[in-house]
Amino acid sequence: MLDAAFFRRWLAAAAAAVDREADRLTELDSPIGDADHGSNLRRGFTAVVATLESTLENTLEKEPPDTPGAVLSLAGRQLISTVGGASGPLYGTLLRRTGRALGDAPRVARGDLADALRAGADAVAQLGGAAPGDKTMLDALVPAVDALPSSFAAAAEAAVQGALATVPLQARKGRASYLGERSIGHQDPGAASSALLFETLAETAET
Ligand code: ADP
Ligand code: MG
Ligand code: MG
Repeated sequence: MLDAAFFRRWLAAAAAAVDREADRLTELDSPIGDADHGSNLRRGFTAVVATLESTLENTLEKEPPDTPGAVLSLAGRQLISTVGGASGPLYGTLLRRTGRALGDAPRVARGDLADALRAGADAVAQLGGAAPGDKTMLDALVPAVDALPSSFAAAAEAAVQGALATVPLQARKGRASYLGERSIGHQDPGAASSALLFETLAETAET
């Protein structure tokens, strides 16, 4: 079972991975975007970690989020308010909606998380009007959510493969879609960052 501390550890690991991979994410966003995906997410996840840490320290001032749902909802709100690019509201919505679907349970099973992330991915699709195959983060998120009932490792692998499979696709949503056929041949940066999220989820589950 996964508790609030697990989700805090995951988000800290995700922030570290985003920080480490920020240059690569921004490079992916250069040929088919505006070269800011790494810096956008670095700013956002740094703020997420800072907020989660401050809610541990200042327990008298703030009610610390002490359920998985509350941790994810707070992280999502922080991403929305910190990241100006498209990825901020999209990832923020993913985490908020996932958190809401988990309700106020103190511990959740992997299957509960898979169901909640499904609701989160659906909300991302609704907000951005995209579907799998449009060369967006959903091309990594949806296969990962599909595989999560099998194992965390399977979800991480599906996300990585989903991200790689965006290379031959033509973008139909987001900035990259402005390029039309010229978007073909490049990996989608948001799919690459979604793979990082699921890789760090699997790493967190192993430790
Ligand atoms: P911006 O495009 O505003 O600079 P980012 O560079 O941070 O924002 O994020 C770009 C990523 O956001 C894309 O690679 C894609 O994965 C994702 N994205 C953009 N628009 C959409 C959308 N409508 N639906 C789903 N994902 C999207
Ligand atoms: Mg960008
Ligand atoms: Mg931008």
